[in-house]
Amino acid sequence: MALVTLPTDIGFVGLGNMGLPMFSNLTRKLPSSSTVHFYDVSSETMEKSLKESGAACRLNPCSNAREVAEKSDFLISIVPEGQHVRAVYLTPETGVLAASDLSGKILVDSSTIDTATSLQVGEETQKRHPKAFFYDGPVSGGVSGAAQGTLTIMLGCPTTDTHLPLLSAVFLLMASNVVPCGGPSLGLTAKLCNNYLSLTISLANAEMYNMAIKSGMDPRLLQSILKISTGSSRNNEQQNPVPGLSPGTPASKGYKGGFKIEYVKKDMGLAIEAAKRVGAKICIGPSVRESYMEAAEDPRCAGLDAKVVYRWLGGDEEWAEKL
Ligand code: NAD
Repeated sequence: MALVTLPTDIGFVGLGNMGLPMFSNLTRKLPSSSTVHFYDVSSETMEKSLKESGAACRLNPCSNAREVAEKSDFLISIVPEGQHVRAVYLTPETGVLAASDLSGKILVDSSTIDTATSLQVGEETQKRHPKAFFYDGPVSGGVSGAAQGTLTIMLGCPTTDTHLPLLSAVFLLMASNVVPCGGPSLGLTAKLCNNYLSLTISLANAEMYNMAIKSGMDPRLLQSILKISTGSSRNNEQQNPVPGLSPGTPASKGYKGGFKIEYVKKDMGLAIEAAKRVGAKICIGPSVRESYMEAAEDPRCAGLDAKVVYRWLGGDEEWAEKL
């Protein structure tokens, strides 16, 4: 990769479950001469970010997204849904695009949202600030990947994009992989495809392990067999929905932390919408989404990591004590 100089002023908007650990990695790895300007609508989150980031660089809490954009050369936003991305960028007076001059600045939205919203924000950016550059750059790897700095960033740009070395240099402070996906909104397309598959595999693994354990099989043995068989998956090995099979993950910690089951409705819904928009026939997605939504309504599962779907299926969580 070509040698690039990191921007001295970087902006960060949205410091939630994903944003805060990304922000921590970024601010710990930037030199002390850099400043990260940041903003979240929640004042509690702003305080937490100041206290917990462990930053080596300077931190500048801002009072809105416009201020972050005005003070930074490179801005990252990561908020929940399309409506929040619109609020961050398009709010009159306080949104990013209300900034007086964004010439030469790079704006990357890492939220998982619909491609239409992302394209709209990109077009508005172009219209109001023709010399600014907007990219979709959603992330994969979950909260643990964000904490470990091992995320995959899917960038909505071609491999020939002149900003790719700079985009990679900044995101590699928070990620292991930065992949240019071809053009605007294709980072999101890649992300939605990945979510569609990983949520489906996770539910299928939960069903399959429940069946195996109820049949009297040691799930550790099954896990090792799958590893060398056609049913192998990263979900089976590293993010298994059965407690105890992937130590250190939310499933092995009472399904706490991780990717909230309530988010499946949105992420799977976005993927299903994306398929519909391009006329791609899908069969299992809608039923997978419904299962997770039903599980999210179950008080034993609400608010927990999506792999808690294993609990919802009636999976045995105390299997180890019975073997
Ligand atoms: P979260 O709800 O924990 O955090 C979102 C943050 O955005 C909150 O702190 C909230 O206060 C802030 N926010 C909302 N509107 C804002 C605004 N207008 N201006 C400034 N801040 C605002 O969500 P999260 O888990 O961090 O997820 C963020 C995005 O990343 C979502 O699109 C999600 O789908 C995606 N994602 C999440 C995970 C995961 O495992 N949690 C994994 C990959 C991608």
